[in-house]
Amino acid sequence: MKDTMAQIYEKLGICQKVYSFGEAVLDTLQDRFTKIDQVAEYNQAKVIGAMQENRVNATCFAATTGYGYDDVGRDTLEKVYASCFHTEAALVRPQITCGTHALAVALSANLLPGDELLSPVGRPYDTLEEVIGIRESACSLKEYGVSYRQVDLLPDGTFDYEGIRRAIGEKTKLVTIQRSKGYQTRPSFSVSQIGQLIQFVKSIKPDVLCMVDNCYGEFVETIEPSDVGADMIVGSLIKNPGGGLAPIGGYICGTQACISRCAFRLSAPGLGQEVGANLGIMPAFFQGFFLAPTVVAGALKGAIFAANLYERLGFPVVPNGTESRHDIIQAVQLGSKEAMVAFCRGIQAAAPVDSYVTPVPWAMPGYEDEVIMAAGAFVQGSSIELSADGPIRPPYAVYFQGGLTWYHAKLGILMSLQKLYEAELIKL
Ligand SMILES: *Cc1c(COP(=O)(O)O)cnc(C)c1O
Repeated sequence: MKDTMAQIYEKLGICQKVYSFGEAVLDTLQDRFTKIDQVAEYNQAKVIGAMQENRVNATCFAATTGYGYDDVGRDTLEKVYASCFHTEAALVRPQITCGTHALAVALSANLLPGDELLSPVGRPYDTLEEVIGIRESACSLKEYGVSYRQVDLLPDGTFDYEGIRRAIGEKTKLVTIQRSKGYQTRPSFSVSQIGQLIQFVKSIKPDVLCMVDNCYGEFVETIEPSDVGADMIVGSLIKNPGGGLAPIGGYICGTQACISRCAFRLSAPGLGQEVGANLGIMPAFFQGFFLAPTVVAGALKGAIFAANLYERLGFPVVPNGTESRHDIIQAVQLGSKEAMVAFCRGIQAAAPVDSYVTPVPWAMPGYEDEVIMAAGAFVQGSSIELSADGPIRPPYAVYFQGGLTWYHAKLGILMSLQKLYEAELIKL
């Protein structure tokens, strides 16, 4: 006999009470889900349009080796990204190993000794601290004579325009704007807010370059920071734009002048964009980009479902259940180590890969506190796949993101709730 929906969930370990609680929350979210689907539909059209315009065809999927001269697949993929994000040029490659690498290339290619880098949005993502030299590291920008200034956000999370005006000087060459909050408590910025900031910066110093760290933001809205004046947007292919299929990679899209320098920095002066074999990875890059708008929509639905579910149980959530979204990250303040552990065990137990593994808090290099991480991913470290992590310290917040499909995100969130319920950390 065929199982009902509740029964099939029960077979996966979700009890009736948890399932019904989830359904009651979902009943309130249909309007928001419809809006997310509309954004995905719009972005799907953008991606297909870019592929058609650049005449994507079967030869684009062929592997190249060695120097990779005349690599049609690689060159076409870069044109597709540039068309989709409305930039003059793009660098999209497996030789860019991750988001941090893409950002490091974009910065070091476009900053010279004596130049100053400015972050008008406070402290950048952790891994950039060593790239910039905020934390000492060999080969940091600081070591090469590039100075750094930062203007913190105002207490209400808005831009400190007066402080930014004062911080822009003779040496200011490049302004870096991080769209997503990453693992901070500040709000993530909408593309329109980023546009206002870029306009302000350029009104003070027109030739300053504006780079946006677009990680986790791609396809959340119908426009990207490159539509509102950014000279470069930068991100990771094991997040949103890889659509879960890209097994590695990063991208930089922007002006021809900026991207040419990035290509020389990535390979070598004189070689630039002309070399770099694709090693047979092109099908995953093209198909992943094609799927990315719907994958991002699924992840967003998961984030909104989790926000509303945990908010209803009295846990503080960032963003809250009703706020508009500018990235796919959801923070839930669980208030105790036990609750963090239970939550992460639920996410892990719901995974298609490594579901039998039990995550435990662990000391990690670079972190002061123990960290717990849940990830059952097809691609190692991929955070467009359903994953959760957080440092074991007050307010005991887990940051979670991803889900290649909405249904998997839903299962993961229900399972996190199930584990909290079984540990008697919540009442239903
Ligand atoms: C993930 C992320 C990065 C770094 O990307 P990696 O691929 O992990 O190196 C940089 N900035 C932000 C905002 C991110 O979310």
